[in-house]
Amino acid sequence: MPDLIQKLPSDWPAFERQHVWHPYASMVKPIPAYPVASASGVRLKLEDGRQLIDGMSSWWSAIHGYNHPRLNAAAETQLADMSHVMFGGLTHRPAAELAARLIELTPAPLNRVFFSDSGSVAVEVALKMALQYWQARGETRRTRFLSFRGGYHGDTIGAMAVSDPENGLHSLFSGTLTQQLFAPRPPSRASAAFDSRQLEQLRKTATDHREELAGIIIEPLVQGAGGMHFYHPDYLRELRQLCDQQGLLLIFDEIATGFGRTGSLFATEQAGVVPDIICLGKALTGGYMSLAATLTREAVASGICQGDPGVFMHGPTFMANPLACAVASASIDLLLESPWRARVQTIEQGLQAGLIPVSELPGVADVRVLGAIGVVEMKQPLDVTRTQAALVERGVWLRPFGKLLYTMPPYIIDSNDLAHLTDTMCEVVELVAD
Ligand code: PMP
Repeated sequence: MPDLIQKLPSDWPAFERQHVWHPYASMVKPIPAYPVASASGVRLKLEDGRQLIDGMSSWWSAIHGYNHPRLNAAAETQLADMSHVMFGGLTHRPAAELAARLIELTPAPLNRVFFSDSGSVAVEVALKMALQYWQARGETRRTRFLSFRGGYHGDTIGAMAVSDPENGLHSLFSGTLTQQLFAPRPPSRASAAFDSRQLEQLRKTATDHREELAGIIIEPLVQGAGGMHFYHPDYLRELRQLCDQQGLLLIFDEIATGFGRTGSLFATEQAGVVPDIICLGKALTGGYMSLAATLTREAVASGICQGDPGVFMHGPTFMANPLACAVASASIDLLLESPWRARVQTIEQGLQAGLIPVSELPGVADVRVLGAIGVVEMKQPLDVTRTQAALVERGVWLRPFGKLLYTMPPYIIDSNDLAHLTDTMCEVVELVAD
Protein backbone atom coordinates (compact mmCIF):
# COMPACT_ATOMS: atom_id res chain seq x y z
CA MET A 1 0.00 0.00 0.00
CA PRO A 2 1.38 3.46 -0.78
CA ASP A 3 3.17 5.19 2.09
CA LEU A 4 0.75 8.06 2.53
CA ILE A 5 -2.24 5.75 2.96
CA GLN A 6 -0.42 3.36 5.28
CA LYS A 7 0.61 6.16 7.63
CA LEU A 8 -2.84 7.63 7.78
CA PRO A 9 -5.05 5.79 10.30
CA SER A 10 -3.73 7.08 13.64
CA ASP A 11 -2.65 10.45 12.39
CA TRP A 12 -5.49 11.36 10.06
CA PRO A 13 -6.44 14.70 11.67
CA ALA A 14 -2.90 16.03 11.16
CA PHE A 15 -2.93 14.92 7.54
CA GLU A 16 -6.38 16.35 6.98
CA ARG A 17 -5.42 19.67 8.55
CA GLN A 18 -2.58 20.02 6.10
CA HIS A 19 -4.35 18.92 2.92
CA VAL A 20 -8.10 19.46 3.11
CA TRP A 21 -9.90 22.79 2.86
CA HIS A 22 -12.62 23.71 5.29
CA PRO A 23 -15.35 26.32 4.71
CA TYR A 24 -13.97 29.86 4.73
CA ALA A 25 -10.70 28.61 6.16
CA SER A 26 -6.99 29.23 5.91
CA MET A 27 -4.67 26.43 4.80
CA VAL A 28 -1.76 28.29 6.31
CA LYS A 29 -3.16 29.08 9.74
CA PRO A 30 -6.20 26.82 10.10
CA ILE A 31 -8.41 27.19 13.15
CA PRO A 32 -9.22 23.90 14.92
CA ALA A 33 -11.64 21.47 13.30
CA TYR A 34 -12.98 19.03 15.90
CA PRO A 35 -12.89 15.38 14.68
CA VAL A 36 -16.37 13.81 14.84
CA ALA A 37 -16.67 10.03 15.10
CA SER A 38 -20.46 9.73 14.93
CA ALA A 39 -23.68 11.58 15.54
CA SER A 40 -27.02 10.49 16.93
CA GLY A 41 -30.13 12.42 17.94
CA VAL A 42 -28.97 15.92 18.90
CA ARG A 43 -25.48 14.78 19.86
CA LEU A 44 -22.19 14.85 18.02
CA LYS A 45 -19.65 12.36 19.38
CA LEU A 46 -16.06 13.48 19.03
CA GLU A 47 -13.19 11.07 18.36
CA ASP A 48 -11.92 11.69 21.90
CA GLY A 49 -15.24 10.49 23.33
CA ARG A 50 -16.70 13.89 24.26
CA GLN A 51 -20.33 14.47 23.34
CA LEU A 52 -21.66 17.83 22.18
CA ILE A 53 -25.26 19.03 21.97
CA ASP A 54 -25.65 20.25 18.42
CA GLY A 55 -27.08 23.76 18.22
CA MET A 56 -26.44 24.21 14.50
CA SER A 57 -28.36 21.35 12.84
CA SER A 58 -25.33 21.22 10.54
CA TRP A 59 -26.15 24.64 9.10
CA TRP A 60 -29.98 24.44 9.23
CA SER A 61 -30.24 20.97 7.71
CA ALA A 62 -30.45 18.18 10.34
CA ILE A 63 -33.94 19.06 11.57
CA HIS A 64 -34.71 15.53 12.81
CA GLY A 65 -31.32 15.08 14.47
CA TYR A 66 -28.71 12.56 13.32
CA ASN A 67 -28.81 8.88 12.51
CA HIS A 68 -32.60 8.74 12.36
CA PRO A 69 -33.90 5.18 11.84
CA ARG A 70 -36.55 6.28 9.30
CA LEU A 71 -34.06 8.21 7.19
CA ASN A 72 -31.47 5.45 7.48
CA ALA A 73 -34.06 2.93 6.31
CA ALA A 74 -35.07 5.12 3.35
CA ALA A 75 -31.42 5.38 2.26
CA GLU A 76 -30.81 1.64 2.70
CA THR A 77 -33.93 0.65 0.78
CA GLN A 78 -33.08 2.97 -2.09
CA LEU A 79 -29.44 1.85 -2.07
CA ALA A 80 -30.55 -1.72 -2.76
CA ASP A 81 -32.32 -0.51 -5.95
CA MET A 82 -29.85 2.08 -7.21
CA SER A 83 -27.92 4.95 -5.68
CA HIS A 84 -27.78 6.95 -8.87
CA VAL A 85 -28.62 7.00 -12.55
CA MET A 86 -28.33 9.93 -14.90
CA PHE A 87 -31.51 12.02 -15.27
CA GLY A 88 -30.97 12.85 -18.94
CA GLY A 89 -33.28 10.53 -20.86
CA LEU A 90 -34.00 8.42 -17.76
CA THR A 91 -36.33 8.94 -14.83
CA HIS A 92 -37.23 7.20 -11.57
CA ARG A 93 -39.88 6.95 -8.92
CA PRO A 94 -37.92 8.72 -6.11
CA ALA A 95 -37.84 11.92 -8.23
CA ALA A 96 -41.58 11.73 -8.93
CA GLU A 97 -42.36 10.96 -5.28
CA LEU A 98 -40.37 13.95 -4.08
CA ALA A 99 -41.72 16.29 -6.75
CA ALA A 100 -45.28 15.37 -5.73
CA ARG A 101 -44.51 16.22 -2.11
CA LEU A 102 -42.87 19.54 -2.95
CA ILE A 103 -45.74 20.60 -5.22
CA GLU A 104 -48.23 19.69 -2.50
CA LEU A 105 -46.36 21.54 0.25
CA THR A 106 -45.24 24.73 -1.44
CA PRO A 107 -47.89 27.33 -2.22
CA ALA A 108 -49.92 26.80 -5.42
CA PRO A 109 -49.24 27.36 -8.27
CA LEU A 110 -45.56 26.38 -7.88
CA ASN A 111 -45.69 23.07 -9.70
CA ARG A 112 -42.68 22.76 -12.02
CA VAL A 113 -39.64 21.30 -10.27
CA PHE A 114 -35.94 21.40 -11.14
CA PHE A 115 -33.66 19.27 -8.91
CA SER A 116 -30.02 20.18 -8.40
CA ASP A 117 -27.12 19.42 -6.09
CA SER A 118 -26.89 22.29 -3.62
CA GLY A 119 -28.44 25.54 -2.49
CA SER A 120 -26.08 27.70 -4.51
CA VAL A 121 -26.91 25.76 -7.66
CA ALA A 122 -30.65 26.05 -6.92
CA VAL A 123 -30.13 29.83 -6.88
CA GLU A 124 -28.16 29.73 -10.14
CA VAL A 125 -31.04 27.75 -11.63
CA ALA A 126 -33.60 30.30 -10.39
CA LEU A 127 -31.63 33.18 -11.90
CA LYS A 128 -31.24 31.32 -15.18
CA MET A 129 -34.95 30.55 -15.26
CA ALA A 130 -35.73 34.26 -14.93
CA LEU A 131 -33.16 35.20 -17.59
CA GLN A 132 -34.36 32.57 -20.05
CA TYR A 133 -37.99 33.54 -19.44
CA TRP A 134 -37.37 37.11 -20.58
CA GLN A 135 -35.09 35.99 -23.42
CA ALA A 136 -37.86 33.75 -24.71
CA ARG A 137 -40.33 36.64 -24.63
CA GLY A 138 -37.98 38.76 -26.69
CA GLU A 139 -37.28 41.15 -23.79
CA THR A 140 -33.56 40.65 -24.15
CA ARG A 141 -32.56 43.74 -22.17
CA ARG A 142 -33.88 42.22 -18.96
CA THR A 143 -30.62 40.74 -17.72
CA ARG A 144 -30.15 42.17 -14.23
CA PHE A 145 -31.47 41.36 -10.77
CA LEU A 146 -32.47 43.53 -7.87
CA SER A 147 -31.38 42.16 -4.54
CA PHE A 148 -30.83 43.36 -0.97
CA ARG A 149 -28.03 44.56 1.21
CA GLY A 150 -27.41 41.93 3.86
CA GLY A 151 -28.66 39.17 1.55
CA TYR A 152 -26.83 35.88 1.06
CA HIS A 153 -27.62 33.36 -1.67
CA GLY A 154 -24.58 31.10 -1.95
CA ASP A 155 -20.96 30.89 -3.01
CA THR A 156 -21.11 30.31 -6.76
CA ILE A 157 -20.45 33.28 -9.03
CA GLY A 158 -24.07 34.04 -9.96
CA ALA A 159 -25.30 33.60 -6.39
CA MET A 160 -22.49 35.78 -5.06
CA ALA A 161 -23.44 38.54 -7.47
CA VAL A 162 -26.90 38.84 -5.88
CA SER A 163 -25.53 38.58 -2.32
CA ASP A 164 -24.53 41.58 -0.22
CA PRO A 165 -21.91 43.42 -2.28
CA GLU A 166 -19.85 44.56 0.69
CA ASN A 167 -19.81 41.90 3.36
CA GLY A 168 -16.68 39.85 4.03
CA LEU A 169 -17.91 36.83 2.11
CA HIS A 170 -18.13 38.36 -1.32
CA SER A 171 -16.56 41.79 -1.51
CA LEU A 172 -13.25 40.31 -2.71
CA PHE A 173 -14.84 39.25 -5.97
CA SER A 174 -16.81 42.40 -6.65
CA GLY A 175 -14.62 43.28 -9.63
CA THR A 176 -15.43 39.99 -11.34
CA LEU A 177 -19.12 39.67 -10.56
CA THR A 178 -22.01 40.83 -12.72
CA GLN A 179 -23.04 44.21 -11.35
CA GLN A 180 -26.51 43.76 -9.91
CA LEU A 181 -28.74 46.33 -8.20
CA PHE A 182 -29.19 46.48 -4.44
CA ALA A 183 -31.95 47.85 -2.24
CA PRO A 184 -31.44 48.63 1.46
CA ARG A 185 -31.75 45.79 3.93
CA PRO A 186 -35.44 45.34 4.88
CA PRO A 187 -35.94 47.13 8.24
CA SER A 188 -35.66 45.03 11.36
CA ARG A 189 -38.82 43.31 12.56
CA ALA A 190 -38.10 44.60 16.05
CA SER A 191 -38.48 48.22 14.98
CA ALA A 192 -42.16 48.71 15.84
CA ALA A 193 -44.86 48.66 13.20
CA PHE A 194 -44.39 48.08 9.51
CA ASP A 195 -44.56 51.18 7.35
CA SER A 196 -44.83 50.76 3.60
CA ARG A 197 -42.68 53.86 3.10
CA GLN A 198 -39.81 51.56 4.08
CA LEU A 199 -39.84 50.33 0.50
CA GLU A 200 -39.49 53.75 -1.09
CA GLN A 201 -35.90 53.38 -2.25
CA LEU A 202 -36.58 49.86 -3.46
CA ARG A 203 -39.58 51.09 -5.47
CA LYS A 204 -37.53 53.85 -7.03
CA THR A 205 -34.70 51.50 -8.06
CA ALA A 206 -37.18 48.97 -9.46
CA THR A 207 -39.01 51.66 -11.41
CA ASP A 208 -35.87 53.38 -12.71
CA HIS A 209 -34.38 50.08 -13.91
CA ARG A 210 -37.60 48.34 -14.88
CA GLU A 211 -36.59 47.66 -18.47
CA GLU A 212 -33.32 45.95 -17.62
CA LEU A 213 -34.58 43.94 -14.63
CA ALA A 214 -35.37 40.23 -14.87
CA GLY A 215 -36.48 39.88 -11.27
CA ILE A 216 -36.01 40.45 -7.56
CA ILE A 217 -34.42 37.86 -5.25
CA ILE A 218 -34.77 37.80 -1.47
CA GLU A 219 -34.56 35.46 1.53
CA PRO A 220 -38.08 35.66 3.02
CA LEU A 221 -38.32 36.83 6.67
CA VAL A 222 -34.74 35.96 7.66
CA GLN A 223 -31.53 37.16 6.08
CA GLY A 224 -29.28 34.32 7.24
CA ALA A 225 -25.53 34.39 6.62
CA GLY A 226 -25.77 38.13 5.94
CA GLY A 227 -26.46 38.83 9.62
CA MET A 228 -29.33 36.66 10.97
CA HIS A 229 -31.61 39.62 10.41
CA PHE A 230 -35.40 39.24 10.90
CA TYR A 231 -37.85 41.47 9.07
CA HIS A 232 -41.60 41.97 8.81
CA PRO A 233 -43.78 39.65 6.64
CA ASP A 234 -45.67 42.72 5.35
CA TYR A 235 -42.47 43.70 3.56
CA LEU A 236 -42.89 40.64 1.35
CA ARG A 237 -46.51 41.54 0.61
CA GLU A 238 -45.43 44.98 -0.61
CA LEU A 239 -42.63 43.39 -2.58
CA ARG A 240 -45.05 41.05 -4.34
CA GLN A 241 -47.25 44.04 -5.24
CA LEU A 242 -44.27 45.91 -6.59
CA CYS A 243 -43.24 42.94 -8.76
CA ASP A 244 -46.80 42.66 -10.10
CA GLN A 245 -46.94 46.37 -10.89
CA GLN A 246 -43.57 46.35 -12.62
CA GLY A 247 -43.92 42.94 -14.28
CA LEU A 248 -40.90 41.47 -12.47
CA LEU A 249 -40.33 37.85 -11.44
CA LEU A 250 -40.09 37.40 -7.68
CA ILE A 251 -37.64 34.76 -6.42
CA PHE A 252 -37.73 33.55 -2.80
CA ASP A 253 -34.63 31.83 -1.49
CA GLU A 254 -36.10 29.54 1.19
CA ILE A 255 -32.97 27.40 1.38
CA ALA A 256 -32.43 28.27 5.06
CA THR A 257 -35.99 29.10 6.12
CA GLY A 258 -37.80 26.16 4.49
CA PHE A 259 -39.28 23.14 6.28
CA GLY A 260 -40.54 24.76 9.45
CA ARG A 261 -37.60 26.72 10.82
CA THR A 262 -39.44 30.05 11.20
CA GLY A 263 -42.61 28.50 12.63
CA SER A 264 -44.46 27.95 9.34
CA LEU A 265 -43.58 25.25 6.84
CA PHE A 266 -42.23 27.95 4.53
CA ALA A 267 -41.55 31.56 5.54
CA THR A 268 -43.57 32.80 2.57
CA GLU A 269 -46.75 31.48 4.25
CA GLN A 270 -46.43 34.10 7.00
CA ALA A 271 -46.70 36.81 4.38
CA GLY A 272 -49.45 35.04 2.45
CA VAL A 273 -47.71 35.67 -0.85
CA VAL A 274 -46.47 33.33 -3.55
CA PRO A 275 -43.22 33.95 -5.39
CA ASP A 276 -42.75 33.10 -9.07
CA ILE A 277 -39.74 30.95 -8.26
CA ILE A 278 -38.71 29.33 -4.95
CA CYS A 279 -35.38 27.73 -4.00
CA LEU A 280 -35.21 24.89 -1.45
CA GLY A 281 -32.24 23.00 -0.01
CA LYS A 282 -30.55 22.33 3.35
CA ALA A 283 -33.34 20.63 5.43
CA LEU A 284 -34.80 19.10 2.26
CA THR A 285 -33.02 15.78 3.00
CA GLY A 286 -33.09 16.22 6.78
CA GLY A 287 -29.37 16.94 6.54
CA TYR A 288 -28.48 13.52 5.10
CA MET A 289 -27.00 14.59 1.78
CA SER A 290 -26.84 17.46 -0.62
CA LEU A 291 -29.96 18.07 -2.69
CA ALA A 292 -31.82 21.20 -3.74
CA ALA A 293 -34.87 22.11 -5.76
CA THR A 294 -36.07 25.16 -7.67
CA LEU A 295 -39.82 25.33 -8.27
CA THR A 296 -41.71 27.67 -10.55
CA ARG A 297 -45.16 28.28 -12.02
CA GLU A 298 -46.40 26.63 -15.18
CA ALA A 299 -46.50 29.98 -16.97
CA VAL A 300 -42.80 30.63 -16.29
CA ALA A 301 -41.82 27.09 -17.28
CA SER A 302 -43.80 27.13 -20.51
CA GLY A 303 -42.61 30.68 -21.22
CA ILE A 304 -39.01 29.48 -21.04
CA CYS A 305 -39.69 26.53 -23.30
CA GLN A 306 -41.59 28.50 -25.95
CA GLY A 307 -38.53 30.54 -26.87
CA ASP A 308 -35.33 29.55 -28.56
CA PRO A 309 -33.74 26.94 -27.93
CA GLY A 310 -37.00 25.54 -26.54
CA VAL A 311 -35.40 23.92 -23.52
CA PHE A 312 -34.12 25.08 -20.14
CA MET A 313 -30.33 25.15 -20.34
CA HIS A 314 -29.22 23.38 -17.19
CA GLY A 315 -28.58 19.70 -16.35
CA PRO A 316 -26.21 18.64 -13.58
CA THR A 317 -24.66 15.15 -13.52
CA PHE A 318 -26.25 14.28 -10.19
CA MET A 319 -29.61 15.87 -10.97
CA ALA A 320 -32.42 14.26 -8.92
CA ASN A 321 -30.04 11.75 -7.31
CA PRO A 322 -32.38 8.89 -6.33
CA LEU A 323 -30.73 8.26 -2.97
CA ALA A 324 -31.12 11.91 -1.98
CA CYS A 325 -34.69 12.07 -3.35
CA ALA A 326 -35.72 8.96 -1.37
CA VAL A 327 -34.30 10.36 1.86
CA ALA A 328 -35.89 13.77 1.17
CA SER A 329 -39.34 12.19 0.76
CA ALA A 330 -38.84 10.24 3.99
CA SER A 331 -37.70 13.41 5.76
CA ILE A 332 -40.78 15.33 4.60
CA ASP A 333 -43.11 12.52 5.70
CA LEU A 334 -41.37 12.37 9.06
CA LEU A 335 -41.72 16.12 9.48
CA LEU A 336 -45.41 16.16 8.59
CA GLU A 337 -46.18 13.23 10.89
CA SER A 338 -44.36 14.92 13.77
CA PRO A 339 -45.76 17.71 15.95
CA TRP A 340 -43.18 20.02 14.33
CA ARG A 341 -45.21 23.21 14.75
CA ALA A 342 -45.54 22.68 18.50
CA ARG A 343 -41.88 21.68 18.72
CA VAL A 344 -40.71 24.82 16.96
CA GLN A 345 -42.97 26.90 19.21
CA THR A 346 -41.56 25.24 22.32
CA ILE A 347 -38.02 25.86 21.09
CA GLU A 348 -38.94 29.49 20.38
CA GLN A 349 -40.19 29.93 23.95
CA GLY A 350 -37.14 28.13 25.35
CA LEU A 351 -34.79 30.34 23.36
CA GLN A 352 -36.62 33.50 24.38
CA ALA A 353 -36.54 32.61 28.07
CA GLY A 354 -33.04 31.12 27.96
CA LEU A 355 -31.27 33.98 26.19
CA ILE A 356 -32.91 36.85 28.12
CA PRO A 357 -30.21 36.86 30.85
CA VAL A 358 -27.60 38.25 28.44
CA SER A 359 -29.75 40.85 26.70
CA GLU A 360 -28.71 43.65 29.07
CA LEU A 361 -24.99 42.88 29.15
CA PRO A 362 -22.84 45.81 27.98
CA GLY A 363 -21.10 43.73 25.30
CA VAL A 364 -24.39 42.53 23.80
CA ALA A 365 -26.04 44.58 21.06
CA ASP A 366 -29.21 42.53 20.60
CA VAL A 367 -30.90 39.25 21.42
CA ARG A 368 -33.57 38.03 19.00
CA VAL A 369 -35.56 34.88 18.43
CA LEU A 370 -37.79 33.76 15.57
CA GLY A 371 -39.17 30.22 15.41
CA ALA A 372 -36.34 27.80 16.17
CA ILE A 373 -33.64 30.42 15.60
CA GLY A 374 -31.94 32.22 18.49
CA VAL A 375 -29.38 34.97 18.00
CA VAL A 376 -27.10 36.88 20.35
CA GLU A 377 -25.50 39.78 18.51
CA MET A 378 -22.42 41.22 20.19
CA LYS A 379 -21.05 44.72 19.82
CA GLN A 380 -17.65 43.38 18.80
CA PRO A 381 -16.71 40.41 16.57
CA LEU A 382 -16.25 37.14 18.44
CA ASP A 383 -12.96 35.27 18.46
CA VAL A 384 -14.12 32.05 16.79
CA THR A 385 -11.41 29.76 18.20
CA ARG A 386 -11.74 31.00 21.77
CA THR A 387 -15.54 31.06 21.73
CA GLN A 388 -15.78 27.64 20.15
CA ALA A 389 -13.31 26.12 22.64
CA ALA A 390 -15.36 27.52 25.54
CA LEU A 391 -18.55 26.06 24.07
CA VAL A 392 -17.00 22.65 23.39
CA GLU A 393 -15.59 22.50 26.94
CA ARG A 394 -19.19 22.89 28.12
CA GLY A 395 -20.54 20.22 25.78
CA VAL A 396 -22.14 22.43 23.12
CA TRP A 397 -21.58 22.75 19.39
CA LEU A 398 -22.10 26.17 17.81
CA ARG A 399 -20.22 28.05 15.14
CA PRO A 400 -20.06 31.78 15.85
CA PHE A 401 -19.50 34.14 12.99
CA GLY A 402 -18.71 37.83 13.00
CA LYS A 403 -20.55 39.40 15.92
CA LEU A 404 -23.09 36.60 16.11
CA LEU A 405 -23.50 33.65 18.41
CA TYR A 406 -26.60 31.90 17.16
CA THR A 407 -28.41 28.60 17.26
CA MET A 408 -30.94 26.70 15.18
CA PRO A 409 -31.16 23.31 16.91
CA PRO A 410 -32.76 20.13 15.56
CA TYR A 411 -36.53 20.21 16.20
CA ILE A 412 -36.27 17.06 18.35
CA ILE A 413 -34.15 18.75 21.03
CA ASP A 414 -35.68 18.22 24.48
CA SER A 415 -36.12 20.88 27.16
CA ASN A 416 -33.07 19.81 29.20
CA ASP A 417 -30.74 19.93 26.23
CA LEU A 418 -32.21 23.23 25.08
CA ALA A 419 -31.73 24.69 28.56
CA HIS A 420 -28.11 23.49 28.58
CA LEU A 421 -27.62 25.04 25.15
CA THR A 422 -28.99 28.47 26.14
CA ASP A 423 -27.30 28.42 29.58
CA THR A 424 -24.00 27.68 27.86
CA MET A 425 -24.55 30.43 25.31
CA CYS A 426 -25.18 32.90 28.14
CA GLU A 427 -22.16 31.71 30.12
CA VAL A 428 -19.86 31.93 27.11
CA VAL A 429 -21.21 35.33 26.08
CA GLU A 430 -20.39 36.62 29.56
CA LEU A 431 -16.96 35.04 29.37
CA VAL A 432 -15.98 36.45 25.99
CA ALA A 433 -17.80 39.79 26.28
CA ASP A 434 -15.14 41.27 28.57
N1 PMP B 1 -29.17 30.55 0.13
C1 PMP B 1 -29.24 30.67 1.47
C2 PMP B 1 -30.31 31.55 2.06
C3 PMP B 1 -28.34 30.00 2.29
O1 PMP B 1 -28.40 30.15 3.62
C4 PMP B 1 -27.36 29.16 1.68
C5 PMP B 1 -26.34 28.38 2.50
N2 PMP B 1 -25.83 28.99 3.60
C6 PMP B 1 -27.33 29.05 0.28
C7 PMP B 1 -28.26 29.75 -0.46
C8 PMP B 1 -26.32 28.19 -0.41
O2 PMP B 1 -26.55 26.85 -0.17
P1 PMP B 1 -25.38 25.76 -0.33
O3 PMP B 1 -24.40 26.05 0.77
O4 PMP B 1 -26.09 24.45 -0.17
O5 PMP B 1 -24.79 25.95 -1.68
